Amino acid sequence: AHACAESIPELNKMVTGVQALGNIRVFCRCRPLSKAEISAGSAQVVDFDAAKDGDIGILTGASTKKTFKFDRVYTPKDNQVDVFADALPLVTSVLDGYNVCIFAYGQTGTGKTFTMEGTDQNRGVNYRTLEQLFHIAKERSETFMYNISVSVLEVYNEQIRDLLSTSPTSKRLEIKQSAEGFHHVPGIVEAQVENIMEVWNVLQIGSNSRAVGSNNVNEHSSRSHCMLCIMVKSKNLMTGDCTKSKLWLVDLAGSERLAKTDAQGERLKEAQNINKSLSALGDVVYALATKSSHIPYRNSKLTHLLQDSLGGDSKTLMFVQISPSERDLSETLSSLNFATRVRGVELGPAKRQV
Ligand code: ADP
Repeated sequence: AHACAESIPELNKMVTGVQALGNIRVFCRCRPLSKAEISAGSAQVVDFDAAKDGDIGILTGASTKKTFKFDRVYTPKDNQVDVFADALPLVTSVLDGYNVCIFAYGQTGTGKTFTMEGTDQNRGVNYRTLEQLFHIAKERSETFMYNISVSVLEVYNEQIRDLLSTSPTSKRLEIKQSAEGFHHVPGIVEAQVENIMEVWNVLQIGSNSRAVGSNNVNEHSSRSHCMLCIMVKSKNLMTGDCTKSKLWLVDLAGSERLAKTDAQGERLKEAQNINKSLSALGDVVYALATKSSHIPYRNSKLTHLLQDSLGGDSKTLMFVQISPSERDLSETLSSLNFATRVRGVELGPAKRQV
């Protein structure tokens, strides 16, 4: 069952508004049926009757339903404000000195980018997080001095790219551990930001450079992990104590399995790398949730980069994004199974044929 449930009671007390379930939380968000799906008469297979209790039902057949349990379930009617309200306690924790990782997982087209980046009219977790960090930092300015910097990275085919760098470099970016024990990538741009306008500019630069060198931006985005790293340094003006904390906000590559017919050349390599890194992420979070003695961070660039913000006393939030459409049923079940395992719940063994 939930091995992490009683593990860190003092941390749970600090997180208000979210059911106390250890330091790994999974929120499930389902997008609305698209116009194309509606006009094609696509059936909806998701049942939200018990969404308030964190249950989501998936109609797997005419009279069969499989129910999954999460810390939150969002229906297509829930908006960006509703979603961010639940993530806010974790954002506040960063200013209290905790490392945090928030990531969106799911099939391409299920709303990962919508949740994390959002749109100009409907801004997502990334922008709202930074807006709140500045807001809270200002409220605390009599006691604390904060210094906030932002880096934007992309991991594609197990290679790290600095999306804020203006100098094209052929040098491979590698992960190193600092004397203080922090994992970092020497040489990447860490943009100091003082207000939300500066953040907006930085995010725009990051998203523009994602497009450089790819023929199809959407396809490229769905096959790479986009990672925003926010470093917060704080100084307590009364005691002189300094802390450093790190918040990762990650829009993962699409989790869909590649059709066998497409499995050739560059596409095959991409698919294998995505599969490797998403499995590594699942393995790390599961190992943490079940308090395993070995946490396999080094199995992918993604988990190695996130190491400081996964485990220890850090806090992790996963958004599992799903489609409501019958057409996506098998990918939806696969994502929900992955997310269930991440919560520390071992999936039952597959039934054996006798
Ligand atoms: P992904 O990043 O998983 O590939 P996107 O974020 O690009 O998916 O979402 C696919 C489409 O669905 C986009 O047009 C997006 O605006 C829309 N969409 C996703 N989630 C929602 C939502 N909760 N409400 C409204 N539209 C959404």
